[in-house]
Amino acid sequence: MENRRDWLKKALAASAAFPLGASLMTELMAAPVSDAERRFMASGASGQITIRLNANENPYGPSPKARAAIAGMLGEANRYPSNSVEELKKLLAEKEGVTSGHILVGAGSSDLLCAAGVAFGVEEGSILSAFPTFPMLMNYSTVFNARWDKADVNDKLETDYPLLASKVNDNTRLVYVCNPNNPTGTFTDPSVVKGFCEEVSSRVPVFADEAYLEFLQPSWQVSMVDLVRRDMNVIVARTFSKIHGLAGLRIGYIVARPDIAKKISRYHPGIPCNQAGLAAATASLGDTEFMASVRQKNAHARKHLTDYLDAKKYFYGNPAGNFVMFKPESDAYQLMNALGKKGIGIRVWDYKDKQWCRVSIGTLEEMRTFTHAMESLS
Ligand code: PLP
Repeated sequence: MENRRDWLKKALAASAAFPLGASLMTELMAAPVSDAERRFMASGASGQITIRLNANENPYGPSPKARAAIAGMLGEANRYPSNSVEELKKLLAEKEGVTSGHILVGAGSSDLLCAAGVAFGVEEGSILSAFPTFPMLMNYSTVFNARWDKADVNDKLETDYPLLASKVNDNTRLVYVCNPNNPTGTFTDPSVVKGFCEEVSSRVPVFADEAYLEFLQPSWQVSMVDLVRRDMNVIVARTFSKIHGLAGLRIGYIVARPDIAKKISRYHPGIPCNQAGLAAATASLGDTEFMASVRQKNAHARKHLTDYLDAKKYFYGNPAGNFVMFKPESDAYQLMNALGKKGIGIRVWDYKDKQWCRVSIGTLEEMRTFTHAMESLS
């Protein structure tokens, strides 16, 4: 069976030209991360999924304010969104305490992870990350000849920051960290992450992906943006896809020193965002009431799942976001397939010769459906 790297290379060869073709982008974004997923996708069963516990989406949809903003912008749909991008950048700069020159807005944060993957991947060294983690940036950099160096997560499925720091070497071009980490769901005390970023960024740039930060209790929501404000070699990525429920409208951003933002923007297409997404993101920004309500519903539905996993004595990473990774008792492909036949989608990772299931947190009703399905299959 072709390995992942060959598969990516083939995808690259199939793409017409640089910048990346849309088909390559789509394929890399939907890349299977395990043998079970490759078999599941090949079987065509993924088409039957109606309960989507496979993409860490927000099941509650956009906030009322975002919905109103989308409806209100329709008259502007004939206009290119250059002004709206600049307006959102200004608001984000204010929120983050930086200048507009520190901000890049993209079609979801994936768009900017990919651009960063290319910007640092073409330097032909290695990109270092924990493993398993969200692979998007590394997928892109390996297509552009970088090596992906990995530091296994610890026994609790948490990013092992001391191990990661020990693996930085002269070939390292960038270190990617993700807190809370996808797919393991685990969270590391921000003071540890900050200490790591401060130390390591004096040698190489650190990319801190904070896609799930807002699912934490407010006192734990400590962004690494503070380090960007202190002019450090740190890049922070945020997204409107998760707590804001705008994954389908594709808005994310990064905050970085203007020289680093410029370096990444060289590999980023001109106007990737759409008016509807920009209007929704602008309206959703700072909507603490909506975020608190999603956070609370997510925690409640997540507890239903972890109570079930505890009762059945599954091993899982202590979850901080809107997903949980656990070790299944039986073959993960069989489980994925059986759940798929019931219309439930999950993800499966290969890690240390074992299979790991990642279940996204849907509504409480969806999580009840999931645990009933698990019961019926056990
Ligand atoms: N970063 C992490 C850690 C993710 O898990 C995801 C999506 O699941 C993304 C970034 C990309 O999100 P988006 O492109 O929708 O902003």
